Amino acid sequence: MFQKKVKNGVPLYEVFCEFPSVSACITTREGGVSEGEFATLNFRMHCADTEENKKENVRRICMAFGTEPEKIVTTTQEHTTEVKRVGKADGGIGFVRPRFQEGVDGLVTNDAGVTLFTFFADCVPVLLFDPVKKAAGAVHSGWRGTVGKISAVAVHKMAAEFGSDPRDIHAVIGPHIGECCFQVDRPVYDEFLSAFPSLGGCLREEKDGKYYIDLSRAITKTLRAAGVEHIENMEMCTVCRSDEFFSHRKTGGKRGCFAALIRIRDKEETEVAE
Ligand SMILES: [Zn+2]
Repeated sequence: MFQKKVKNGVPLYEVFCEFPSVSACITTREGGVSEGEFATLNFRMHCADTEENKKENVRRICMAFGTEPEKIVTTTQEHTTEVKRVGKADGGIGFVRPRFQEGVDGLVTNDAGVTLFTFFADCVPVLLFDPVKKAAGAVHSGWRGTVGKISAVAVHKMAAEFGSDPRDIHAVIGPHIGECCFQVDRPVYDEFLSAFPSLGGCLREEKDGKYYIDLSRAITKTLRAAGVEHIENMEMCTVCRSDEFFSHRKTGGKRGCFAALIRIRDKEETEVAE
């Protein structure tokens, strides 16, 4: 279940609202201080936006999400299928400490109070939560990560590291480039064909030689094959809704990033008021 809220002046979509033991959200473009193509709540790290703006945006999301930069761990976003287990000792990596040296596109943890932080502008955010083992995961699944089934890698990692039963894991597929807008060339189409031989509607071929891919259906198939039964798709296309979310395709790459965050709550944690 997800719900749009405004917390400390930052509009965001809270996800997993039905579970008191987790905090998770997807940010939008609103509520930050960046300007121009980065307006306003930009979390794209390596870009022409000013350090001051980026720092202030991080401060704002921390206030809204009830955390601090020292307790956040970020991915490096390199379209790998690498999922890393992190914990309290990794706090600050990406924002106040150097980012991971190796490519990391997924994070899992069972340490309460640690926020997993991932970045997007058309790629697919996948958030995972196991209410039984109190474990969480955050995945950046672009088309390469989707072909590589990084969501399944994260589920297997949660099972191996925390003893999660995939049937207990709840997944949210966040805003991303929808089938309506994700037109691809033949080579990309072919990669999807070989990764998902039983297409099940993940792909659409148009008579003029154009191909469309439904990333959320591909990811849903991947999660189901990994044993995940509870899957919620937010069904928001970042291109169609580029006023609300950053979109790479819509802007030809002149854009910032929004974020997907998740944290297992500490027992003494109090809710950030609306
Ligand atoms: Zn669209």
